[in-house]
Amino acid sequence: MRALRRATCISIAATCVSFSGQSSAACLDSGVQVQILGSGGPGPSAGRASSGYVVWIDGVGRILVDAGSGIKDQFHMADASLEDIELLALSHFHPDHSAELAAILWPAGSQARLSGPTGTDGFPSVSDFVERLFGQNGAFPVLADRIQFEVLTVDTASRDIVEVWNVDDVLVRGIGVPHANVPTIGYRVDVGDVSIAFSSDQNGSDPSFIEFIEGVDVLVIHMAVGEEARGFGAELHAKPSVWGQMATQGKVGRVLVSHISADSPQELQARLDVLRDNYSGPMTVGNDLLCLEVD
Ligand SMILES: [Zn+2]
Ligand SMILES: [Zn+2]
Repeated sequence: MRALRRATCISIAATCVSFSGQSSAACLDSGVQVQILGSGGPGPSAGRASSGYVVWIDGVGRILVDAGSGIKDQFHMADASLEDIELLALSHFHPDHSAELAAILWPAGSQARLSGPTGTDGFPSVSDFVERLFGQNGAFPVLADRIQFEVLTVDTASRDIVEVWNVDDVLVRGIGVPHANVPTIGYRVDVGDVSIAFSSDQNGSDPSFIEFIEGVDVLVIHMAVGEEARGFGAELHAKPSVWGQMATQGKVGRVLVSHISADSPQELQARLDVLRDNYSGPMTVGNDLLCLEVD
């Protein structure tokens, strides 16, 4: 991993935590890296943007996972190019994961493959989402002629593993994950013999996800709540202890902590301490624009 961080750091078990959420880093020209565009969560996030990640392969940002609020600027600061994005993988339709899709596509549009979940009464399917945004009667018909997505829907109710993209030595798969009543996809990206899993927002109650991520080199987790979470918050999001147990059982190579909603460095530290009690492997605490090498 290489990352240049400004602001002071808290040292925890060989991990440097910058609470401001800001860092700057350039990904490498070779190999596979995952770059965080936004490391913030659904609530106040100390200046962190919402959810978004770029997977860089040999110096080209080819996969964008999520398009949460604030990532447009980060995408360009990362020197990523929309022309290079071949797969746009949306996890679900909470605003902190999808609200900036139109902004990031303006003005160029896209012909990428776009994956997303099935719909329910309360949430659109990925096809409906695209139509409501970019259809002739949608919110942004100005983009209608420039958007030619190849839409792929992952059935989040079945828990079947869906092949989302498979080209050369890149394989992306998706699976439904439990996020209260919200149709949500977790993704796994395999490039040659290295792999990254994106947990997405989920409560960690489905063991099929542990099978899905088994042995990945990097597991991106979403630390949106603390151990004290109860009620609907706990139905939506896994507690730090659950994330730790998941990483341990999945035998992952490294945990990358992201989607951080914490009111203070102390609150974040407390959550990381619980995670550490349940997982003894390598761990990196994410910041916006941090680039992590996957090996
Ligand atoms: Zn979220
Ligand atoms: Zn969510």
